[in-house]
Amino acid sequence: MDYSDIVAFHGHQCPGLAIGYRLASAAMAALNVTRAGDEELVAIVENDACGVDALQCLTGCTFGKGNLIFRDYGKQVYTVYSRKTGTGVRVVYHDDGVPPECRDDRQKREEFIRNGPQDAIISLSFVEIDEPETARKRKSVNCAICGEPVMETRLRDTDAGLICIPCAEQIRA
Ligand SMILES: [Zn+2]
Ligand SMILES: [Zn+2]
Repeated sequence: MDYSDIVAFHGHQCPGLAIGYRLASAAMAALNVTRAGDEELVAIVENDACGVDALQCLTGCTFGKGNLIFRDYGKQVYTVYSRKTGTGVRVVYHDDGVPPECRDDRQKREEFIRNGPQDAIISLSFVEIDEPETARKRKSVNCAICGEPVMETRLRDTDAGLICIPCAEQIRA
Protein backbone atom coordinates (compact mmCIF):
# COMPACT_ATOMS: atom_id res chain seq x y z
CA MET A 1 0.00 0.00 0.00
CA ASP A 2 1.39 3.38 -1.05
CA TYR A 3 1.31 6.38 1.21
CA SER A 4 -0.92 8.08 -1.37
CA ASP A 5 -3.52 5.34 -0.86
CA ILE A 6 -3.47 6.02 2.86
CA VAL A 7 -3.84 9.75 2.28
CA ALA A 8 -6.75 9.05 -0.06
CA PHE A 9 -8.44 6.91 2.59
CA HIS A 10 -7.90 9.53 5.29
CA GLY A 11 -8.91 12.46 3.10
CA HIS A 12 -5.92 14.73 3.63
CA GLN A 13 -2.19 14.69 4.29
CA CYS A 14 -1.22 15.70 7.82
CA PRO A 15 1.41 15.13 10.52
CA GLY A 16 -1.01 12.99 12.51
CA LEU A 17 -1.45 10.58 9.64
CA ALA A 18 2.34 10.39 9.29
CA ILE A 19 2.62 9.50 12.99
CA GLY A 20 0.17 6.64 12.57
CA TYR A 21 1.98 5.47 9.47
CA ARG A 22 5.33 5.34 11.25
CA LEU A 23 3.95 3.71 14.38
CA ALA A 24 2.04 1.06 12.47
CA SER A 25 4.97 0.41 10.12
CA ALA A 26 7.34 0.06 13.06
CA ALA A 27 5.00 -2.32 14.84
CA MET A 28 4.54 -4.54 11.82
CA ALA A 29 8.24 -4.63 11.07
CA ALA A 30 8.94 -5.59 14.69
CA LEU A 31 6.37 -8.38 14.50
CA ASN A 32 7.70 -9.38 11.12
CA VAL A 33 4.24 -9.41 9.56
CA THR A 34 2.69 -7.91 6.49
CA ARG A 35 -0.89 -6.73 6.19
CA ALA A 36 -3.35 -8.83 8.19
CA GLY A 37 -4.24 -11.69 5.95
CA ASP A 38 -2.64 -14.96 6.85
CA GLU A 39 -1.55 -13.50 10.18
CA GLU A 40 -4.53 -12.34 12.25
CA LEU A 41 -3.58 -9.03 13.80
CA VAL A 42 -5.29 -7.03 16.51
CA ALA A 43 -4.54 -3.38 17.25
CA ILE A 44 -5.20 -1.45 20.43
CA VAL A 45 -5.07 2.31 19.90
CA GLU A 46 -4.81 4.79 22.75
CA ASN A 47 -6.25 7.74 20.82
CA ASP A 48 -8.74 8.21 17.99
CA ALA A 49 -6.81 10.81 16.00
CA CYS A 50 -5.81 10.96 12.30
CA GLY A 51 -3.07 8.35 12.61
CA VAL A 52 -5.49 5.53 13.34
CA ASP A 53 -6.58 5.70 9.70
CA ALA A 54 -3.03 4.84 8.63
CA LEU A 55 -2.99 2.00 11.10
CA GLN A 56 -6.22 0.62 9.67
CA CYS A 57 -4.80 0.72 6.14
CA LEU A 58 -1.51 -0.91 7.05
CA THR A 59 -2.64 -3.56 9.50
CA GLY A 60 -6.12 -4.30 8.16
CA CYS A 61 -7.44 -3.90 11.71
CA THR A 62 -10.87 -2.21 11.70
CA PHE A 63 -13.74 -1.64 14.10
CA GLY A 64 -16.04 -3.62 11.85
CA LYS A 65 -13.91 -6.72 12.11
CA GLY A 66 -13.56 -6.34 15.84
CA ASN A 67 -9.78 -6.33 15.71
CA LEU A 68 -9.36 -2.61 16.37
CA ILE A 69 -9.77 -1.64 20.01
CA PHE A 70 -9.96 1.97 21.17
CA ARG A 71 -8.84 3.03 24.61
CA ASP A 72 -9.41 6.71 25.23
CA TYR A 73 -6.11 7.53 26.94
CA GLY A 74 -5.03 10.45 24.75
CA LYS A 75 -1.65 8.88 23.95
CA GLN A 76 0.09 8.39 20.63
CA VAL A 77 0.52 4.72 21.40
CA TYR A 78 -0.51 1.60 19.49
CA THR A 79 -0.21 -2.01 20.50
CA VAL A 80 -0.35 -4.49 17.65
CA TYR A 81 -0.34 -8.20 18.24
CA SER A 82 -0.85 -11.49 16.55
CA ARG A 83 -3.85 -13.50 17.71
CA LYS A 84 -1.98 -16.65 16.87
CA THR A 85 0.95 -16.10 19.17
CA GLY A 86 -0.43 -13.58 21.69
CA THR A 87 2.82 -11.69 21.22
CA GLY A 88 2.59 -8.05 20.45
CA VAL A 89 4.52 -4.86 20.28
CA ARG A 90 3.67 -1.55 21.90
CA VAL A 91 4.90 1.43 19.94
CA VAL A 92 5.13 4.93 21.42
CA TYR A 93 5.53 8.15 19.47
CA HIS A 94 7.88 10.82 20.85
CA ASP A 95 7.25 14.23 19.36
CA ASP A 96 10.29 15.73 21.09
CA GLY A 97 12.40 13.69 18.66
CA VAL A 98 11.38 16.01 15.85
CA PRO A 99 14.25 18.51 15.37
CA PRO A 100 13.45 22.09 16.41
CA GLU A 101 13.91 23.38 12.85
CA CYS A 102 11.07 21.13 11.68
CA ARG A 103 8.66 21.83 14.50
CA ASP A 104 6.97 24.99 13.31
CA ASP A 105 6.74 24.08 9.66
CA ARG A 106 3.84 21.70 9.15
CA GLN A 107 5.24 20.31 5.94
CA LYS A 108 8.78 19.82 7.27
CA ARG A 109 7.38 18.22 10.39
CA GLU A 110 5.25 15.83 8.40
CA GLU A 111 8.24 15.03 6.18
CA PHE A 112 10.49 14.27 9.15
CA ILE A 113 7.90 12.10 10.85
CA ARG A 114 7.44 10.12 7.66
CA ASN A 115 11.10 9.74 6.68
CA GLY A 116 13.26 10.58 9.69
CA PRO A 117 15.13 7.92 11.68
CA GLN A 118 12.75 5.68 13.58
CA ASP A 119 14.82 5.72 16.76
CA ALA A 120 14.40 9.48 17.05
CA ILE A 121 10.62 9.39 17.32
CA ILE A 122 9.52 5.85 18.22
CA SER A 123 10.24 3.51 21.09
CA LEU A 124 8.88 0.02 21.22
CA SER A 125 8.59 -2.88 23.58
CA PHE A 126 7.30 -6.42 23.22
CA VAL A 127 4.29 -7.39 25.30
CA GLU A 128 2.18 -10.43 26.03
CA ILE A 129 -1.54 -9.89 25.49
CA ASP A 130 -4.56 -11.67 26.89
CA GLU A 131 -6.96 -12.22 24.06
CA PRO A 132 -9.85 -9.74 24.36
CA GLU A 133 -13.34 -10.69 23.30
CA THR A 134 -13.74 -10.50 19.59
CA ALA A 135 -16.76 -9.33 17.65
CA ARG A 136 -18.49 -12.64 17.35
CA LYS A 137 -22.24 -12.81 17.30
CA ARG A 138 -23.81 -12.08 20.63
CA LYS A 139 -27.40 -12.38 21.67
CA SER A 140 -29.60 -9.28 21.56
CA VAL A 141 -32.29 -8.47 24.09
CA ASN A 142 -34.97 -5.79 23.68
CA CYS A 143 -34.54 -2.77 25.97
CA ALA A 144 -37.35 -2.69 28.52
CA ILE A 145 -37.90 1.03 27.86
CA CYS A 146 -37.34 1.86 24.18
CA GLY A 147 -37.82 -1.68 22.91
CA GLU A 148 -34.79 -1.61 20.63
CA PRO A 149 -32.65 -4.75 20.42
CA VAL A 150 -29.39 -4.33 22.31
CA MET A 151 -26.30 -6.53 22.44
CA GLU A 152 -26.56 -8.48 25.68
CA THR A 153 -23.26 -7.28 27.09
CA ARG A 154 -24.31 -3.62 26.77
CA LEU A 155 -27.52 -3.84 28.75
CA ARG A 156 -27.85 -2.22 32.15
CA ASP A 157 -29.65 -4.10 34.89
CA THR A 158 -31.89 -1.54 36.61
CA ASP A 159 -35.14 -1.31 38.60
CA ALA A 160 -36.84 -0.67 35.26
CA GLY A 161 -35.47 -3.96 33.92
CA LEU A 162 -32.73 -4.62 31.41
CA ILE A 163 -32.32 -1.39 29.49
CA CYS A 164 -29.97 0.18 26.97
CA ILE A 165 -27.28 2.70 27.84
CA PRO A 166 -29.07 5.81 26.42
CA CYS A 167 -32.24 4.92 28.35
CA ALA A 168 -30.19 4.32 31.51
CA GLU A 169 -28.60 7.74 31.10
CA GLN A 170 -31.99 9.39 30.67
CA ILE A 171 -33.28 7.83 33.85
CA ARG A 172 -30.27 9.11 35.75
CA ALA A 173 -30.58 12.65 34.31
ZN1 LIG B 1 -5.49 14.19 9.44
ZN1 LIG C 1 -33.56 1.80 25.48
